[in-house]
Amino acid sequence: MKYTIQTGINNPILRAISEEIKEINDELKDFLLILRRAMWENDGVGLAAPQIGKNIRVIATTQREKKSGKKNKLLGETIMINPVLKELSKEMIIAEEACLSVPDVFGKVKRHKSVVVHYTDPKWNVQKKKLKDFNATIVQHEIDHLDGVLFVDKLVKPIKRFSEEKKK
Ligand SMILES: [Zn+2]
Repeated sequence: MKYTIQTGINNPILRAISEEIKEINDELKDFLLILRRAMWENDGVGLAAPQIGKNIRVIATTQREKKSGKKNKLLGETIMINPVLKELSKEMIIAEEACLSVPDVFGKVKRHKSVVVHYTDPKWNVQKKKLKDFNATIVQHEIDHLDGVLFVDKLVKPIKRFSEEKKK
């Protein structure tokens, strides 16, 4: 099945509140495969269902080891159904973010340094995962998509454009 990456800060699909998933069925299983494929094909560190046009509470995420100055090493990937953030650290971090749905821009966003995310896995088992730093940022960014929130809503500094950075 084909998918289309939804873009634009005023795109109604990206701005809607996504619906909780009540049961796993074949249609959802097929969708999870598409979501995962779309993340990899577009080089995303994560992808949320609304970004490929479906307002349901599912995200695909990767977990990475952030090495300064080097490309992040991939540690794993996790599909999360109905993810909910718990145990948000008081400590915050500010890091640069970008988004496939808001192409060509990036900017600094403040996020919780660590979180515990509770979710259901594709086999319908309840799971939780403690994540910190970049991996916590990924999950916070993706769950925001399920609530119609984009990273550009949360910038702590003015937005930058990749096209302008390249000219420098
Ligand atoms: Zn995004």
